[in-house]
Amino acid sequence: MDGTTTPHRRAWRGPAVALAVLAAVAGLFLALPEPGDERLAPPAPGFAVRDVRLFDGERVVEAATVVVRQGRVVAAGAGVAAPADLPVIDGRGRTLLPGLIDAHVHTWGDALAETLNFGVTTVLDMFSDPGPHRELRRTREALSPRAHADRFSAGHLATVPGGHGTQFGVPVPTLSTPAEAPAWVDARLAEGSDFIKIAYEPRSAEGLGPPFPSIDRPTLAALVAAAQARQRLAVVHVSRLVPAHEALQAGADGLVHVHADRVADAELVQLARARGAFVTPTLAVIAGFDPTPPAPGARRGNALLAADPAVRPYLTPEQRRGLEQAPPTRLVMFRLAGALESVRRLHAGGVEILAGSDAPNPGTAHGASLHHELELLVQAGLSPLQALRAATSAPARRFGLTDRGRVAAGQRADLLLVAGDPSADIRATRAIERIWKNGAAVERRRYPEAP
Ligand SMILES: [Zn+2]
Repeated sequence: MDGTTTPHRRAWRGPAVALAVLAAVAGLFLALPEPGDERLAPPAPGFAVRDVRLFDGERVVEAATVVVRQGRVVAAGAGVAAPADLPVIDGRGRTLLPGLIDAHVHTWGDALAETLNFGVTTVLDMFSDPGPHRELRRTREALSPRAHADRFSAGHLATVPGGHGTQFGVPVPTLSTPAEAPAWVDARLAEGSDFIKIAYEPRSAEGLGPPFPSIDRPTLAALVAAAQARQRLAVVHVSRLVPAHEALQAGADGLVHVHADRVADAELVQLARARGAFVTPTLAVIAGFDPTPPAPGARRGNALLAADPAVRPYLTPEQRRGLEQAPPTRLVMFRLAGALESVRRLHAGGVEILAGSDAPNPGTAHGASLHHELELLVQAGLSPLQALRAATSAPARRFGLTDRGRVAAGQRADLLLVAGDPSADIRATRAIERIWKNGAAVERRRYPEAP
């Protein structure tokens, strides 16, 4: 141990996930573009895909036909006939999936268009400007064609005065005591928040922890109770094992990072399972912050993603730079290897895992990094099919999104057609041939390399 550093600095060498959020929200109040009146446009007439391998959100159906009309799936399965009055796409050799759901992002600027460009049709935003809530809530209900993903959002996150989220020179509503929790939650719901996100980064009894204050444990419990009393999910940002325990003991519905200071212990696995809580590990952002040098001749996973010929043409120049950048700090707490092992233990112990990237933090890119997250989840021991569920039906079920995450009659026709079989090789999700949002074809944007 280095005697020249204070105990708290020595232990808090790697608040990477906390920093990740800090970095991400730096652009928080650059507003999303106004979606305008696109919700008034009529839905696309429809199409069918025949003889396709279908991943319906839960399982694979071979030689299926899927029929889409007026923005919705009207039939899907092996015995379905292709109608004569619609264009029919030959699905042989391909797999049709639900549009993907990224369960942890932060959105501003062109985020929702960048996201859709990679077949991610819905995002769960874990902290951003509540300003666009109302318009985005209206458009996400419509079945009109659109050029951006749908957003469900926490809006502001729960934090204390001076806590993280407050440092951007704009007013952020804070709270410090349990008594304030019900009114704080009511204010978020009045703004249009879909769920409640709480940043919980307390210092330990020894004073170990981040160099900024946090919601305390009684306030955490009061926020969780207030959210759940209003039939809303309470999800918690943690980065260390002990706060992860405490968040679950407070009744959190989910943890939106896997902690990364130590590998998950059996008690955490048991507690998460007993409480029915999910974990969204955000391995892609941990990979982006891991300072471990790659093996000689190897490249970092994020840089490999940017170099993938199935991915690179569709990344903006800024996204390429973001994926290729070195870890932004030398903080050592966050090691991908330990996080992978924690996910392996949680998954093996029966804890539900959701796929989320934490884009656009350093080392990540909207849309693309969800494909990286899927690959990392398979490295952590999920089967490709389980990883696909973690990015489709599982987040839809957990967040109450009843019209998406599956391919079935009545579902919104958010669809992704890829070459090959991602239920055998997860990297096939990147081999995108077509994307549909609300049953309308999405024209993918390509970005030429800088000369
Ligand atoms: Zn985040």
